[in-house]
Amino acid sequence: MCTASDRITPTYEAVVIGGGVAGLIAARDLAVSGLRVCLIEAEHAVGGRVQQATLAGLPVELGAEAFATRGGAMEALLHELGLEAEQVRPERAPAWVITAQTAHPLPVSGALGIPARPLTARTSIGLGAALWAATEPWRPRSPHVPGASVADVARARIGTRATAALVAPVVEGVYSVPPDQLPFDGQGELARAYARTGSLVRAAREMRSANLAAGGAVASLAGGMSRLIARLMRELQRLNVTVHTGDAVTELAPAAAPDTGWRVRWGRGECRTDAVVLAIPPREVHRLLPDLPARAAELQPETVVETVALVVDSPALGGTAELPAPRGTGALIRPDHPCIAAKALTHATAKWAWLRDAAPAGRHVVRLSYGARGRSPATAGLSNEAAAELALRDASETLGVPLDPAQLVAHARARWSIPARAQPPALPPGVHCTGEAYSGTGLASVVPHARSAANKVIRDRPSTISPAHSAHSPSEVERT
Ligand SMILES: Cc1cc2nc3c(=O)[nH]c(=O)nc-3n(C[C@H](O)[C@H](O)[C@H](O)COP(=O)(O)OP(=O)(O)OC[C@H]3O[C@@H](n4cnc5c(N)ncnc54)[C@H](O)[C@@H]3O)c2cc1C
Repeated sequence: MCTASDRITPTYEAVVIGGGVAGLIAARDLAVSGLRVCLIEAEHAVGGRVQQATLAGLPVELGAEAFATRGGAMEALLHELGLEAEQVRPERAPAWVITAQTAHPLPVSGALGIPARPLTARTSIGLGAALWAATEPWRPRSPHVPGASVADVARARIGTRATAALVAPVVEGVYSVPPDQLPFDGQGELARAYARTGSLVRAAREMRSANLAAGGAVASLAGGMSRLIARLMRELQRLNVTVHTGDAVTELAPAAAPDTGWRVRWGRGECRTDAVVLAIPPREVHRLLPDLPARAAELQPETVVETVALVVDSPALGGTAELPAPRGTGALIRPDHPCIAAKALTHATAKWAWLRDAAPAGRHVVRLSYGARGRSPATAGLSNEAAAELALRDASETLGVPLDPAQLVAHARARWSIPARAQPPALPPGVHCTGEAYSGTGLASVVPHARSAANKVIRDRPSTISPAHSAHSPSEVERT
């Protein structure tokens, strides 16, 4: 008879902690290379900030709904997963900016709100400000100021008005931080193009030259981004990866001699492993490895953002023949707007043809986002019903279409914690970290970083340990 003390601690060649996109991708790549892998996720569902709700029979994304096509990392992944044919582009309609005085479409091409063709922004920022921005490529280079924010650089180059009206709403909408708090040097391709050309407008033009149409730089999957999560889970099952959900990892410590590697504990489970990939926010990395020195960024409070998705019956949201949707694919709201508490609205049925086709005539899906760094969501502390009422009022004001509570068919709400950007800490041997805080925001940054973390584990493996994939036990998805 087998007693508890006889039970052998399961051993893996790699354990991935965190089952968001970063963790799922790392686990998949490790398993593809032949390693015996275990993934542990704190929540009952994997996916992290990619989560879908079904509202009135419609699949509605509450977190990430698309990905940037830059760099080609997502395209390569979708190809490997056999999902390339499922890729969809958003409808060709601009997003709008809503201010206290006006509602105007964003210039069709641009990067981070910086217009690639500034004169197309004249209705939004006025002719004088548009002309000033349009002459920016011919002005002398500005000196490089280390630590300058996106707002510093934008104000110096394209002017205060264009920065406030175009850059601020986009930065807050995408990064949930005001542009004064977003370091310009962290802006990857845009920062590199600016350093090369000396002009923000030229840099925006370069970045978008291949994607001049609105929405050309983003794509998604028919059925929603969560199809990626479902596909990755199928992959993990196929590759015999053990997946535990519903319990956070609480302890990560060196294995007791004579064992080597790491001991991982969660809820009622425990295992030993040669290598660990931490695909969790810095707060959790430092909780599991308290001896790591923490830098200021890792200790910054996480930004709380809430999304409220609404399904409404409103034929008026279908727009007119001239204007098929009142605010194109959605709108960014100026942070100082006196009546609208939301920072952004996505008109999902106007943005994604597959969703519009799935919805009955006159039925629409809109999603509003609340909260940014230093600005707690206006929905925080409200009941779900009160949050939906606020979102409906904000949607009505943003879209310029009266919406009555009787038109609300269904609603859902999600709360997200967004870690501040951090430098990867100096980790002990066999431990690697990945995830948005270390890679940068968005799937196009998270995916290649996670793949490179998995590659490091594979590369660093002692050659004496042979891959154990032939001895894998059947895959299991457990709730411990
Ligand atoms: C509202 C919203 C909209 C967005 N829209 C887009 C978009 O359209 N396009 C885009 O590219 N990006 C978008 N993003 C960003 C994108 O969602 C993230 O960059 C990405 O999903 C982050 O993945 P991740 O795996 O690094 O982190 P997460 O998804 O946060 O995953 C981390 C996981 O670790 C788990 N975990 C934490 N601690 C532990 C522990 N101790 N033990 C076990 N598990 C633990 C968590 O439960 C979580 O599941 C959006 C984000 C939000 C919030």
